[in-house]
Amino acid sequence: MRKTKIVATIGPSSGNAETIQALFDAGVNVFRLNFSHNDIDFHKQNAATIRSIESAGDRPVAILMDLQGPKFRIGLFEDGSITLIQGGKFVFDTENTFGNERRVYLPHPELFKSLSDGDDVFLDDGKIKLKVKSNNGEKIETEVITGGILMNKKGVNVPNAFINVSAITKKDMDDLQHVEEIGADYVAVSFVQTARDITAVRKLVPEHVKIVAKIEKPKAIENLDAIVNSADAVMIARGDLGVEMQIERVPVVQKQIVNICQRYQKPVIVATQMLETMIASPMPTRAEVSDIATAVYQGADAVMLSAETANGAYPIEAVNTMRNVIEATEQDNDVRTSVGATTEGRLIKAVIDDVSAVVAFTESGRTAINASNSRLGNIVAMTPCMRTARRMCLVWGVYSVVVEDIYSFSQMLQIVDTKISGMFEKQKNIRVAIVAGMPFRESGMTNVLHIYDVKNNDA
Ligand code: PEP
Repeated sequence: MRKTKIVATIGPSSGNAETIQALFDAGVNVFRLNFSHNDIDFHKQNAATIRSIESAGDRPVAILMDLQGPKFRIGLFEDGSITLIQGGKFVFDTENTFGNERRVYLPHPELFKSLSDGDDVFLDDGKIKLKVKSNNGEKIETEVITGGILMNKKGVNVPNAFINVSAITKKDMDDLQHVEEIGADYVAVSFVQTARDITAVRKLVPEHVKIVAKIEKPKAIENLDAIVNSADAVMIARGDLGVEMQIERVPVVQKQIVNICQRYQKPVIVATQMLETMIASPMPTRAEVSDIATAVYQGADAVMLSAETANGAYPIEAVNTMRNVIEATEQDNDVRTSVGATTEGRLIKAVIDDVSAVVAFTESGRTAINASNSRLGNIVAMTPCMRTARRMCLVWGVYSVVVEDIYSFSQMLQIVDTKISGMFEKQKNIRVAIVAGMPFRESGMTNVLHIYDVKNNDA
């Protein structure tokens, strides 16, 4: 069983039933709907397709609704794009008209309040760099330091300036109105700066929807412990992070974030540009393959594809490549030992070295997350709750089976016999470690560890 999970973003290249089915078959565990792009009807349609493929399939999948957040963007150009030449001048202003080679509309009053002489402005994920020469509150004059082609609505990053802005915008609030209809299991909050940003979003979604903190600002790194503690999961959003801080610091920060997430037992996704070349080519680079392997070695719960599956020419090949790299890396025993384990987990591990799987009976998923955090091999979460089953799709090593409510120990063993023998069909002697909380149906208590030889009639 593959342990590291795959998150794939749905966009124009993949937003159709045939491709979503192929992505599911290739092993995608979490489908990401990116609310920075496309309209609500596109996302609703894809969410419905994902759920119908899931119900016809043999395993649950999760839906991650990724909010745009306070991403700054320039306005539009007469011809769709312009070219900025190094050493030239370029102006941002408050006039909502088409831009040209000299100026463009910037629809963000916060930036006119915050930018001052000498500040750097990055456009299009850092590809273009400008330096502020003057700002009179309505017009920001800049010098082009690194030029390039600039297209409509490209992103603006201003790493040195402190911008007092909430992580939830009016658009996010409007999008969150559809969270139930989309059937989101997770909502990702962009440009989080403090733990308060997480608690604010938590108040806006039903309790069963879990919150992913996207770490993409230096301010979030300063407040990492509090943010990780208050979120349910974390995404290392290396795209914006690589513009907001020096790019060479991203790998170091990635390692720190993964470690902190493991300490707080929160699933962590390593995201962005993992297979960037596969947007246009069926082959990845060696460096991209190594990047995925590094995330697996570090103990990331999931790795993510963005433009590769959203806009690329090879969405299915990208997932196949990612899955193959994960599987090859997980063959190496170093993967298992490279993450921290809880004392509880170490104790269980000492007792259960030779089991085929840990079977965690869980309402909330907590018991399965604990087992995962201790890297206890194959983990099967047995839960009466479909929502829990779906949430576990983001968690390292956990595969979920939805079962009926459990009322007795003997019923629990019967369920293990039926479900586990189906999963390990050809294996004769299947020994599992059952972890559960008794009395059943009360979440938050794991107090049973039972080593059990599965009665396997199929072998
Ligand atoms: C990122 O910046 O790496 C990221 C995942 O965020 P988005 O794709 O929403 O910009």
